[in-house]
Amino acid sequence: MIQNLLDSFVNFIMTDVQDKKETKEQAVLVRIICCIFMVYYLVAGIAIAFIQHYYLGLLLVGAIGLLVVAFICTYENRTRTGLVLLNIILLVFSTLLALYVGFDMDFHLPIFLNILLIYFNKTEHMLWKRLYTFFICAYLMCMTQFCSFLDVARVPDGFARIFIQSLNMLAFSGCIGAIAYSYCTKFNQAEEKLRRINDNLERMANLDTLTGLSNRRHMNEHMDTLVAEYNRNGKIFTVAIGDVDFFKKVNDTYGHDTGDYVLSKLANQFRIYMHGKGHVARWGGEEFLFTFENMNIDKAYKCMDELRQRVSEIPMQFKEYDFQVTMTYGMEEFNDRLGVEATINRADEKLYKGKTGGRNRVVI
Ligand code: GH3
Ligand code: MG
Ligand code: MG
Repeated sequence: MIQNLLDSFVNFIMTDVQDKKETKEQAVLVRIICCIFMVYYLVAGIAIAFIQHYYLGLLLVGAIGLLVVAFICTYENRTRTGLVLLNIILLVFSTLLALYVGFDMDFHLPIFLNILLIYFNKTEHMLWKRLYTFFICAYLMCMTQFCSFLDVARVPDGFARIFIQSLNMLAFSGCIGAIAYSYCTKFNQAEEKLRRINDNLERMANLDTLTGLSNRRHMNEHMDTLVAEYNRNGKIFTVAIGDVDFFKKVNDTYGHDTGDYVLSKLANQFRIYMHGKGHVARWGGEEFLFTFENMNIDKAYKCMDELRQRVSEIPMQFKEYDFQVTMTYGMEEFNDRLGVEATINRADEKLYKGKTGGRNRVVI
């Protein structure tokens, strides 16, 4: 029962705003601070009435009424009005309480919240926020002097003093906690969102959209790391370029979408086969580049030839078509005298030899 009531209250406080120009965090923060101050003014009002500040106690009932108005504003697409009203309430009533109950009782502390709250209002111009901060600072300085100059306070003592001071500290700390939590949540959410966007952008920049394999740019980066490892630890690798045989004929006979299907299907096979052996990327058009890592050319050749065989057996079934394709490959083992570019060029030359030599083969 109590749990249900509490859940309903939390849901009510967390209700989202309808206006796109407003933010939920700001509305929720205003609601939480309004709630804290309603309870605070109620308890403080009773305590103050006890120390014979009857009118001040009654005035705080009026403050609670205004807080209710600010609270309702956040549900009526008027969060900014609610925030401004809250700022005014804090400023006016904290001043009155500090004047009549005594500056030493820490009633002026909520005025500091105004500075934090104004920075939470994203619709306000930065210049206004700075000016307002300056105003609050000057206001508090004047207030310190004015309170002692006016000297109208009826300062409580004994238990009443301790009670009111503790209450003030509690309300102030609660509000600071709520504002800090809200800032922190907002900041973490923004950071998380940014991280996800960055990850997505990075993935998009590295992947080929049709096949989902690494693109040329990403493969070049990967080969740079392979060269660095070769130089550091002597870790060898072999490069291979594969090209689909008579692919133009596939497009011309079955249509471009069938050609796309073939490339995706081949890419899937490559991804599975190369797992644990190295990397594969779509190098361009119907060409793929493979790196066999920790393998000399003889060992890599065995893998490449096995893959060539598998590729030639893949059933290509798209729409009403049923056919197979073959691929030709050229390979070269990397060595530091050649460099990556020349290694790839040599593999490419061998691929060309494979094409003129009859296709569906691996040339080393
Ligand atoms: P070869 O055996 O000599 O390699 O002959 P080929 O027909 O495969 O070679 P060619 O270079 O004449 O043709 C390659 C074709 O690949 C031409 C181009 O339209 C097609 N192609 C390139 N990229 C894509 C793509 O993303 N999708 C489809 N469907 N076709 C593509
Ligand atoms: Mg080609
Ligand atoms: Mg081709």
